[in-house]
Amino acid sequence: MYDINQIRADFPILERTVYGKPLVYLDNGATTQKPRCVVEAITNEYYNTNANVHRGVHFLSQQATELHEASRETVRKFINARSTAEIVFTRGTTESINLLATTFCQSLMEEDDEVIISVMEHHSNIVPWQLQARLWGITLRVIPMNDRGELLLDEYEKLFSPRTKLVCVTHVSNVLGTVNPVKQMIATAHAHGVPVLVDGAQSIPHMRVDVRELDADFYVFSGHKVYGPTGVGVLYGKENWLDRLPPYQGGGEMIQHVSFEKTTFNELPFKFEAGTPDYIGTTGLARALDYVSALGMDNIAAYEHELTTYATRRLKEIPGMRLFGESEQKGSVISFLVGQIHPFDLGTLLDRLGIAVRTGHHCAQPLMTRLGIEGTVRASFGLYNTKEEIDVLVAGIERVRKMF
Ligand code: PLP
Repeated sequence: MYDINQIRADFPILERTVYGKPLVYLDNGATTQKPRCVVEAITNEYYNTNANVHRGVHFLSQQATELHEASRETVRKFINARSTAEIVFTRGTTESINLLATTFCQSLMEEDDEVIISVMEHHSNIVPWQLQARLWGITLRVIPMNDRGELLLDEYEKLFSPRTKLVCVTHVSNVLGTVNPVKQMIATAHAHGVPVLVDGAQSIPHMRVDVRELDADFYVFSGHKVYGPTGVGVLYGKENWLDRLPPYQGGGEMIQHVSFEKTTFNELPFKFEAGTPDYIGTTGLARALDYVSALGMDNIAAYEHELTTYATRRLKEIPGMRLFGESEQKGSVISFLVGQIHPFDLGTLLDRLGIAVRTGHHCAQPLMTRLGIEGTVRASFGLYNTKEEIDVLVAGIERVRKMF
């Protein structure tokens, strides 16, 4: 059912070498490689169907519009949203969060109101809130975690006050791999009458996500992390929330009527999509979602869980190994340090062996401060990685460790 050789054959880049060594790509948390079908969908649209969407009466424009809107339906189905009006196309997770932070704080928050975030957020779920906090006099409250990398839910409960207006939390930590109990956290927030934004950048590629089952008010993700193209992402929002928010950017597409005296805005989701959308990107994204859907998100999750369990066991055999993030529910991300070896040195030497890992603070400096370190090496797995590649990683680390 899960034919790994067939799957790997779908990703041409996996056949290449780096410094004469077969590429071992373990940086999927940063971005994923693209299957041939995604690249072909993009090429095909440029070659055969390219025209600007929504505004044209001519054949090509209508066909491009149909493709673009069909992609919105593919996204809707993928996350089980109620309506395509709730699917806003953006440039990615970062833009989705900035859109929400700007419009939500501007229209629905007052001075001294509070936003709850967590200690393990990516900078893109911290800084947009800080920018707004500075403008509007809003306060950020931070959910702490234990040493295993699990959020402290008792402390979370205590952070709510009558001034709490929004909770923003990552579904899966890009550093620790922790899968946060977002369904439970959303229920808690709703009991206080507070909506929740879930950062799904690291969950969408790895597990089945049903925004209605979670009851998430907002859910955001990036196309490039789920085997789709760069430059396209999604903001899901419940219609009743999106309706209450003002436009983010002004321009074409987002208006109903413009005069110098008064402008009225387009219906959802177009109100939030000023300018020519990345309609080629949305085609690529839809093709990527079709690809992972055909494999089955539950099959991908089971396969990656097996890989991560194997990798954790093998890595722990290495003397001096320190793993960061040992939560009970864990995704396919492993952060580690080995003895006194600087993560940058380890990453650079692994690279010479053809092994691509990420090093540094992973855009989560407050989390690094909490852990008392400056950075880690991070191996993050995707649907095409293998146990053999993990063996190459372990052997590579051993080789570097002996050099030191
Ligand atoms: N949130 C998390 C948890 C991430 O891991 C990332 C990217 O690494 C982002 C947000 C930002 O995603 P993008 O750079 O695609 O906007």
